[in-house]
Amino acid sequence: MKNDFLLMSDFEKHTTIACMYINKKSINFISVLYNLDECLIKEILISENVYEYHVCNVCNHLKIKYSFLNYYHCYDCGTKINLRYSKHPVDYNLYNHKISKYEQIRDDGQGILEAKCNYCKKYFKPTNNQIHKRLKSIYKNKRGKKRNYLHCGCQIHT
Ligand SMILES: [Zn+2]
Ligand SMILES: [Zn+2]
Repeated sequence: MKNDFLLMSDFEKHTTIACMYINKKSINFISVLYNLDECLIKEILISENVYEYHVCNVCNHLKIKYSFLNYYHCYDCGTKINLRYSKHPVDYNLYNHKISKYEQIRDDGQGILEAKCNYCKKYFKPTNNQIHKRLKSIYKNKRGKKRNYLHCGCQIHT
């Protein structure tokens, strides 16, 4: 594979690198594989207009990094898939890094995520659906309106 790469034209090299990158191979991985400088790879990716873009494994669209829900799929697809689990609580480790900046959360001791209700300040286990709605509002609405804050259900009848 490495020898094939050396025989390629610059155009083919750039295409190959861009293709690997949008399919989620890291710059470091590509750099080791082809013995290329990481800065050079980054320059190539920028010139190919794919830097910070990846392909969603579900819809196959090229999307910018922050529109990814996780390694595999973008928010649009992930939200649809996760609807199946909408009433379930979520894994603490899976969502900790995504939501801890915005909500007070903790591990319940069994790996399930608990969040502090924004109104009554009690800890509760938000459902997958609540977490995804919250994340969507964080990512799609950077203005940070006071909507969609996590709450335990105490606000529903007010
Ligand atoms: Zn998608
Ligand atoms: Zn509450």
